[in-house]
Amino acid sequence: MRSIGKILSSTRALWPSYLAIVVSSVLITATSLVMPFIISGATDEVVSVVKTGANPSGHVATIMWFAVALLVADLANTAISNIGGYIGDVTAVRLRRILSTRYFEKLLTLPQSYFDRELTGRIINRLSRNISETTQFLNSFANNFLPMLLTTFAVLVISAIYSWPLALLLLIVFPVFMYLTTLTSKKWQVLEGEKNSQFDIAGGRFAEVVGQIRVVKSFGQERRELTSFDERYASTVATTREQSRYWHLMDGARRGALNVIFFGVYSIIFVQTVEGHFSIGDMVLLIQLVNMARQPVMMMSYLIDSGQRAVAGSRDYFRVLDERPEREGLDLLGAADTAPGATIDAARARAAACTGSVIEFDHASFGYDADRDVLKDITLAVERGERVAFVGESGGGKTTLISLLLGLYTVHDGHLRVFGRDTAETPLDELRSDFGVVFQDASLFSGTIRENIAYAHPEATHEEIRAAAERANADVFIRQFPDGYDTTIGERGLKLSGGQKQRIAVARAMLKDAPILILDEATSALDTKSERLVQAGLDELMEGRTSLIIAHRLSTIGAVDRIVTLRDGRIDEVGPPAELATSGGIYAELLALQASGSKRDKKRL
Ligand code: ADP
Ligand code: MG
Repeated sequence: MRSIGKILSSTRALWPSYLAIVVSSVLITATSLVMPFIISGATDEVVSVVKTGANPSGHVATIMWFAVALLVADLANTAISNIGGYIGDVTAVRLRRILSTRYFEKLLTLPQSYFDRELTGRIINRLSRNISETTQFLNSFANNFLPMLLTTFAVLVISAIYSWPLALLLLIVFPVFMYLTTLTSKKWQVLEGEKNSQFDIAGGRFAEVVGQIRVVKSFGQERRELTSFDERYASTVATTREQSRYWHLMDGARRGALNVIFFGVYSIIFVQTVEGHFSIGDMVLLIQLVNMARQPVMMMSYLIDSGQRAVAGSRDYFRVLDERPEREGLDLLGAADTAPGATIDAARARAAACTGSVIEFDHASFGYDADRDVLKDITLAVERGERVAFVGESGGGKTTLISLLLGLYTVHDGHLRVFGRDTAETPLDELRSDFGVVFQDASLFSGTIRENIAYAHPEATHEEIRAAAERANADVFIRQFPDGYDTTIGERGLKLSGGQKQRIAVARAMLKDAPILILDEATSALDTKSERLVQAGLDELMEGRTSLIIAHRLSTIGAVDRIVTLRDGRIDEVGPPAELATSGGIYAELLALQASGSKRDKKRL
């Protein structure tokens, strides 16, 4: 329950709406409570006429006033219910917006390591499930349960005025109900968690399969994917069956107990009327009131059911919100404190002001797991304008090195400085604005080519975008599309070839125009011809920039100043290519290996 309270207290903007909902609930309760009194009054009037055998015509007008009073109360009730319902709906969706945006904001500030370990399916389902269950509960609480609870309370008070044994008996309902509910709650929640986890896994796999449908099809794994998906759902059926059986058993017990209590309540009303404690009108009033209280009490099962879901959902929600962000004090929703383009200007200013090395690894060590270091005691300085290539076997830690530079992870030991500033103490947005990156998979977004190139610079003009594309060797093919720069490229750029995607990625980095460039296997996924096209763009991009290049094929490294080879997470050799080629180290080995490989290829041709 505390997590629900936390949600309410942390959404200050909605407090007036919450208040309006409470007020409308009170009015709904009041207007519906008036009705039994009117009917009771009418009953007494009718009974007195019937008893005395008076001429009915003189009483019709009086009785009609009761009917009119009923109509007025009814109409008022209808109007307020609908106004309250409207406010409830709008408040729920506004709450949903706030919670969803907060959740997304939190996710965006979480460190890379969070995404390494958390299932994507779970991250996505949390957005829909947890948040919708919480807001749905609050909405139905406001629209249905709150008026009902108020009614029940009012009935208790009114019945106490008429008959204290009656009130006492009604009062017993609550502890009995609560006791039986707490008995069931824990087990229910555990099963709910299990079920949701199965849904998350199935949903995550579903998204993956749809996203990589090509792989699934070409490996002929449709049947297996479908079967394992269905099996996940089969286990949710089993869990739900257990949960539901349990729930309905307990609900049966709960309601059975209530039925017995209400038997006592009706008995008291009938007997006390016969004994002359109440008039017929009083009896009619009390029966109506008890019936009004009965409904919410029976509905309490649903309230509890949806309340438990909401509590579980909101707890899980806050579990994410309480995660540690990668840096404290990040406020993404607050107004940006820098004008567009200012961060990159600041990066260039930092680059210009820096007199020492651009990048310094200083006895830096890092591992993803505490017990295994991927990079060990790395010491290396990269100077301004230098082109440095990193070479080493796959899994040797080259990408990890890049991730450290981008502040996706922090070194465990030693230091890493960019423009003389320790990365551990540099604001991450500043650190990241120092770099332009081209990854192996172009990693584009759905949308137009223009949007993708301008990703880091949404305010760029067409001329700027076009100039970047031209230098990236992309302008020609882009203009061949009927829609040119406004061509939509499909999810992750599905409608483009590898070489086209990569040239757009190069244009994107070109437009960002950061002082340091990182190419992580930027051409590794390409065939030789498109590689050449992309390489021309990359050469443009590297012009005048400090560049770190990771390339699989040594032939594509091009003219670099120095090569760094990594072996078992350590730096093995550092030096100009010509020197390393003859030193008999890894680089020389790889050179020989690839040379013989390409000779073999040539012979085959
Ligand atoms: P390279 O880019 O040189 O091929 P990487 O830096 O990607 O190598 O990987 C270095 C080592 O770190 C590998 O053994 C890999 O399994 C491990 N590794 C990479 N990323 C992660 C991660 N997110 N979590 C755990 N281990 C990782
Ligand atoms: Mg890599």
